[in-house]
Amino acid sequence: MQRRKRIAVVGAGLGGLTCAAFLQREGFVVTVYEQAPAFSRIGAGIILSANVMKVLRRLDVERPLLETGICPDAFVSRAWDTGEILYELTLDAASERRFGGSYINVHRGDLHRVLETAVRPGSIVFGHCLTGLEQAEKAIRLVFETGARHDADIVIGADGIRSKVREILLGAERPRFTGRIAQRAILPTERLKGHAIRDCTKWWGPDRHLLAYFTTRRRDELYLMGSVPAASWESEELALPCPRQDFVDAFASFHPEIRRMIEAASDITVMPICDRARGDRWSGDRIVLLGDASHPVRPYMAAGGAMAVEDAAILSRCLTMLGDEDPAEAFRCYEATRIPRVAEVQRVSMENSWMRGPTETDWFFCYDACAAPITRPR
Ligand SMILES: Cc1cc2nc3c(=O)[nH]c(=O)nc-3n(C[C@H](O)[C@H](O)[C@H](O)COP(=O)(O)OP(=O)(O)OC[C@H]3O[C@@H](n4cnc5c(N)ncnc54)[C@H](O)[C@@H]3O)c2cc1C
Repeated sequence: MQRRKRIAVVGAGLGGLTCAAFLQREGFVVTVYEQAPAFSRIGAGIILSANVMKVLRRLDVERPLLETGICPDAFVSRAWDTGEILYELTLDAASERRFGGSYINVHRGDLHRVLETAVRPGSIVFGHCLTGLEQAEKAIRLVFETGARHDADIVIGADGIRSKVREILLGAERPRFTGRIAQRAILPTERLKGHAIRDCTKWWGPDRHLLAYFTTRRRDELYLMGSVPAASWESEELALPCPRQDFVDAFASFHPEIRRMIEAASDITVMPICDRARGDRWSGDRIVLLGDASHPVRPYMAAGGAMAVEDAAILSRCLTMLGDEDPAEAFRCYEATRIPRVAEVQRVSMENSWMRGPTETDWFFCYDACAAPITRPR
């Protein structure tokens, strides 16, 4: 079915690509504007839990992701010093049946390469950094750094934690620095020289933690992400190169297995961990936000990307129901459906308690954004 509304998605991240792919399948004319000149394989991994994989299955990208990433045998929580196992969530055929999907760890660059295939060829316009939105006669005019201008009926701001669309909609407000930084590295497993490690482990220390997991099913690539306290973050950059010694020093008193992994790392980056306080306005008449643009969360539940993907599925369902006639009503349904769930994820992520010990995980993993009821606001 061909729809009347032209939709511009700003940002070709996880949320923007997922949303564009769903809306295109529903007959909307969708263009995605991305500031980067092309996708690149930046050095980081991402966890995609069952609630994400269920959504991506509808876009026919589940199989390539399973072939690229790894289904870890378990999520293991261990004590930073003794290595004692604090909690282990087995991930197997039974957990897949229970949660309705697999749990995978994958390189972010590989995820993007796969997700791009779900979007209509030619509908991602790279090298377009949005700088403004203007009211045109019957449309919204998107203004880009290059001077280019394009009109759309609906604008979806999927442009991440420093969203320009958000700034235009809600006013300028910097993301909140949480007093922590993330040190990240991807390395070939062969550098561990045969020392066996588990597929996915979070090492919990008193004031810091380290997450270590393979990003490929061949287990030949390892991702490390340490979260450590920091007084401030002065740079305007989203990430900077990190001296290897800083990473080594930050975890010098940790278990020997951690030190061995960190000492094998190179090309380390460091980024501030930021979020925003909960805010329950995600839209205007013809503009709507999703993912980090509206609600960045601390990465301690591995759920920020998951929320972006779920937002994308719910927003596309609301626009499919109501978008041609009344986009603002579609946005109200989207907000009413998403805000309670995202708020709970924000709360748990802030606590940094997820799966440290026995945890009730069904509410998070079993959720299916393609089938969940849509809340109609009164
Ligand atoms: C250390 C760390 C680890 C994490 N681990 C996980 C995890 O394991 N699992 C998980 O689910 N989540 C994780 N997250 C969170 C996850 O990375 C984010 O929540 C997710 O990427 C948000 O997706 P998004 O599509 O909203 O935004 P993004 O992925 O940030 O995409 C935004 C896109 O918009 C583009 N853009 C920005 N401004 C403009 C502009 N003006 N014009 C045009 N384009 C623009 C950007 O270039 C980018 O491509 C982690 C976060 C951090 C910091």
